[in-house]
Amino acid sequence: MERKVLLHNDVLDSILSYCQMKHPNEGILILKGKSKKGEIRIDGLVIPPFNYTGPTFAGFPHSFLPFDMSYVGIVHSHPSGSAEPSVTDLHNFFGLVSLIVKSPYDDNSIFAWDSSGNSIPLSIVEN
Ligand SMILES: [Zn+2]
Repeated sequence: MERKVLLHNDVLDSILSYCQMKHPNEGILILKGKSKKGEIRIDGLVIPPFNYTGPTFAGFPHSFLPFDMSYVGIVHSHPSGSAEPSVTDLHNFFGLVSLIVKSPYDDNSIFAWDSSGNSIPLSIVEN
C-alpha cells in the first residue's frame, strides 16, 4: 500500500520551535491527526504527560495515555543531527508514524518513519 504523511505547516512550526527550545536535549510530542487509506494527516500536537528527556533519549510512560484514536504517532528530536531512528526509537514505537527532527530544526530537518524503520514520504500542507 502506498503510504504518505501530510503535516500541517502550523504544526511543523510548533514542532520546530519546541525542539529548538529543548535543545541540547531531545524533545518529544504526541502527533494528533487522522489516517485513511495509508494517508496520515497530522493536524495537532499533545505534550505527553510525565515525559523525560536528555541529550540522547526522550520518552514517556505509555500507560498514562488516555486511549485516543486521534493519536497517530510521536515526533522527537535528535540534537546530534541524525534523522535515523535508533534501535530504542523502534522499540518504543507508538502509533502509525514516527517523525524525527534533526538539528538545526529547519523545514528540511524532519523525516517520517514506520515501525520497521522504513522512511515514509512526508509533505508539508497548508491548513
Ligand atoms: Zn531517537
